[in-house]
Amino acid sequence: MERNDKHGFTDFFLLSLEKNGLESLITQEHIDKFFLLTEHMLTVNEQFNLTAIREPSRVILLHYIDSLIGAHLFPEGASVIDVGAGAGFPTLPLAIVRPDLRITALDSTAKRVNYIGETAALLELKNITPLVGRAEEIAKDAAYREQFDCATARAVAALPVLSELCLPFVTLGGRFIAMKGRGGKEELAASQNAIQLLGGKEAALFDAPVLAPDGETFAHTTVVIEKIAKTAPKYPRAYGKIAKAPL
Ligand code: SAM
Repeated sequence: MERNDKHGFTDFFLLSLEKNGLESLITQEHIDKFFLLTEHMLTVNEQFNLTAIREPSRVILLHYIDSLIGAHLFPEGASVIDVGAGAGFPTLPLAIVRPDLRITALDSTAKRVNYIGETAALLELKNITPLVGRAEEIAKDAAYREQFDCATARAVAALPVLSELCLPFVTLGGRFIAMKGRGGKEELAASQNAIQLLGGKEAALFDAPVLAPDGETFAHTTVVIEKIAKTAPKYPRAYGKIAKAPL
C-alpha cells in the first residue's frame, strides 16, 4: 500500500478491525487521525528511527490493532501510565479511541517522548502527558508512585522485569496490563514470585492473536495483574539489579 493511499488505508483498517472484533471502537474521525499518524510517523522515521515497520498495512496490524486488542480492559476514565512508550505504542492508538483515558507516556529517551508530545498536539489529543525518565526512578517519586489506575507496557522487557518496573505505579485496586507477543504464558509462569512480592494478585491471561484480513496471525497475549497490596518501598530496585536478578 502506498503511504498516501487514504482509501486503501481506510478499507484495510476497517477490515482489520472487523476481523479482530474491534469495529465498535472506531469512528471515521478516528480513522482520519490514524491516517495522519501513519504519514507523520513514517516521515519522522526517515530522520530518526522510530519503527522498523514501514509498510502501512503492517503498521495497522502490528502497531494499531496490536495496541487496541486489549483496549476494553482499561476501566472507563482510568489514569494510565505507559511504561517505555517508545514511538507511542500503545499510548497513541489508545488515546485516539479512548478519549476518556488520561495517559502518561513514560520513556527514558527524551527524543521519543518529545515525538509523542508533538504527535499528540498534531492529532489534537488532549489526554496524553509525556514524561521523560527511567521507570525505576520515577516510581520512587511520590507524585507517581501508586498514583495510576492502570500501568501498561508493550515490547519493553520480559514480564518478571516488567512487573517490577510497572506494578509500583499502580494504585491499590488498579491493574497492570502487559501486552506481550509470543511467550506470554511462559513469562507469566516465571513471574509468579515477582507478582506476589510486588503486591499483585494471580494474573489473568488472554490469548488474543492479531488476525490479518488474509488469515495471517500474529501472536498477542495480554496479561492482567490486579494490585491487591502496596508495593514494599524497596521496589523497584536499581535497573542493574532488576535485570541481573529478576524477582
Ligand atoms: N512500547 C513501545 C512499542 O511497543 O513500540 C516501545 C518499545 S521499545 C522496544 C522499548 C522502549 O522502552 C524504548 O523506547 C526504551 O527507551 C524504553 N525503556 C526501556 N527501559 C526503560 C525504563 N527502565 N524506563 C523507561 N523507559 C524504558
